[in-house]
Amino acid sequence: MLESGILHGTTFQKKLVAGALICGLSAQACAGVVLLYHHVDEATPAITSIAPDQFNRHLDIIEDEGYTVLPLDELVRRSMDAGPERRKSDEKIVAITFDDAYRSIYTTAFPNLRARGWPFTIFVATRLVEQENPQYLTWAELTEMSGHGATIANHTDSHTHMIRRLETETADAWKGRMNGEILTAKDLLVEHGLDSNFFAYPYGEYDAEILALVGQLGMIGFGQQSGAIGPHSNPLLLPRYPLAGVYVGEAAFRDKLRSLPMPILHPGIEPLVSDNFKPPLKLSFVTNTLNLSRLACYGPGGRMALSETSASNILATPLEDVSVGRTRYNCTLPKGNRFYWFSQLWIRKKDDGSWYYEP
Ligand SMILES: [Zn+2]
Repeated sequence: MLESGILHGTTFQKKLVAGALICGLSAQACAGVVLLYHHVDEATPAITSIAPDQFNRHLDIIEDEGYTVLPLDELVRRSMDAGPERRKSDEKIVAITFDDAYRSIYTTAFPNLRARGWPFTIFVATRLVEQENPQYLTWAELTEMSGHGATIANHTDSHTHMIRRLETETADAWKGRMNGEILTAKDLLVEHGLDSNFFAYPYGEYDAEILALVGQLGMIGFGQQSGAIGPHSNPLLLPRYPLAGVYVGEAAFRDKLRSLPMPILHPGIEPLVSDNFKPPLKLSFVTNTLNLSRLACYGPGGRMALSETSASNILATPLEDVSVGRTRYNCTLPKGNRFYWFSQLWIRKKDDGSWYYEP
């Protein structure tokens, strides 16, 4: 759900709001899934990598399950802004994205995607390309791929942790620095004829001020929390499924591909926790037709305790504290052979108040 005050609506964003209303009337017909990859390589860190064979297997499954791979703008529009045509059918739609512009996107993923004629999106931290580090794509490669269905989008200039204010930095100085990160990247993309209106938060990290900043620039924002996009998604914080390391298995991939947006109001929670390390998650369902006894949420320590605070409100509480770093709660609710899915990010600093190290 859009949060008032955050958006200075662009036409696209306004259309999404209208779409959310139409789509909301048609139960769960509106759903779209976005996949997130980094490296397609066996020699790179497992936590951000998928083996080429496994990646190709994912593409085969997409085809096998009858999904249509859409460009990101069309996927977002059709997931949230359901016109009459969209409402008639329960379309199976998916978009493929890559973060960070690693070389293996060009050498390994692109040939296979091009052979299938499938579009995809690369979120680029522009400084990494500017520095001509051989680990990263070149402007020529990005330009070539954009000629074959790739959308090239914004991932800041330096791939900074946006949520981390510098020690002596004022709120205005931080805001100026973050605007600079996004606009420098935008200028470089425009200079190479590669601009788009999409932004991905580095590390999937955000807070309300960061979302507001992206909204003021008229962009659509993507995180790294799991889930499908639907009428109640926040266009400044759209979900994607990170597919790397241990999260690439085939059965789980099919579940993600088929997933539906949890029919809840977007909770609009600040992910940074500073005192209560067992933060509760309130899920406010927009319909009372679901059997919520099958709702399952997983967090630190395993399956979370659920309590019903009213007919359509469920409170999920973790068994253990969220640990230092990033943690996600994942909630699913079965619907036939599919799952409604929602994921919430939490961020915890070290106990001395400093930020944890992340390479
Ligand atoms: Zn990144």
